Amino acid sequence: MKILIAEDSIVSRHLLEATLRKWGYEVVVACDGLEALELMQRENAPNLAILDWMMPGMTGLEVCDRIRRRAGEPYTYILLLTSKSQKEDVIEGMDAGADDYITKPFDQHELQVRLRAGRRLVDLQAELLSAREALREQATKDSLTHLWNRNSILEILSRELVRAAREGTSVGVVMVDLDHFKSVNDNYGHFAGDAVLSESARRMQSTIRQYDAIGRYGGEEFLVILPGCDEQGCYNQAERMRKNLAQAKMSLNESTVCVTASFGATVALPGQSRTAESLIRKADEALYLAKRLGRNRVEVLPVESGRLAAISEQETEPVAQ
Ligand code: GH3
Ligand code: MG
Ligand code: MG
Ligand code: MG
Repeated sequence: MKILIAEDSIVSRHLLEATLRKWGYEVVVACDGLEALELMQRENAPNLAILDWMMPGMTGLEVCDRIRRRAGEPYTYILLLTSKSQKEDVIEGMDAGADDYITKPFDQHELQVRLRAGRRLVDLQAELLSAREALREQATKDSLTHLWNRNSILEILSRELVRAAREGTSVGVVMVDLDHFKSVNDNYGHFAGDAVLSESARRMQSTIRQYDAIGRYGGEEFLVILPGCDEQGCYNQAERMRKNLAQAKMSLNESTVCVTASFGATVALPGQSRTAESLIRKADEALYLAKRLGRNRVEVLPVESGRLAAISEQETEPVAQ
């Protein structure tokens, strides 16, 4: 475990450092309070710190106070080093946010025991943080594809609509549905179907921009949010996803399968105030049209009604369902 020590006395610092290294700690050394504060604010800073109380520039107490006011995560366990004469002021040290203290010259056994208590707290907090992260992941992501789940992607859409209204920008919404997916399950089994869903999700996600979002809307349906896209931009992005999905066959057991999807899109243009629900309904309508016109294609419908002339010329012969 990494530990920070801040001590201005060279002799005391070397002794402390040598002792801690002997016990297997990775030691980060600061020679005064300011340096300690700077080191403690860095990314991946040690979560355990031993601060000398009296140091030039900034005392251990002040460092402690500054760290606690920041109240960031993960928590830093702070052990204050005091001289005998400061022992009566220990309340002040604990009040500044120190977790514990030890008097100088320190007794090795006492230091070892107090550090053990500190490590226990640091380890416990690390476990809590990772458990919380796992819960957050579970609550917001789809477990099969690792895309946003339905609730999350709907929340993202609502948030983007509010932002677009404020900033006078557009938001593209694309509904995607894998083509004849039932036959993958029927021919290769449900597990193979799951693998196809995961790979399809990966392929589509790899083509979107950093500020776009993609989620699993339902079984083999996906919802893509494209902030700042106009109708042509939305069409182009959906085309990129479509091509990337269909470009290479996916291998399943001993065979390969060609997976395609149909894309229905719509755009809330600047100044058009639209609800998430109405956009999804329109994107669904465009998706239905893409299915009807032969699948493995993109259709864009304006929020109002009617088809976009610019895009209709790419149509193929309608295929009856
Ligand atoms: P279309 O081109 O008209 O969309 O045809 P389709 O076969 O894709 O559509 P349909 O709605 O008939 O079938 C969707 C299938 O998706 C049926 C369902 O069993 C399957 N499915 C939904 N969720 C999952 C899943 O999580 N895993 C697997 N393996 N299959 C799923
Ligand atoms: Mg000192
Ligand atoms: Mg479907
Ligand atoms: Mg389908």
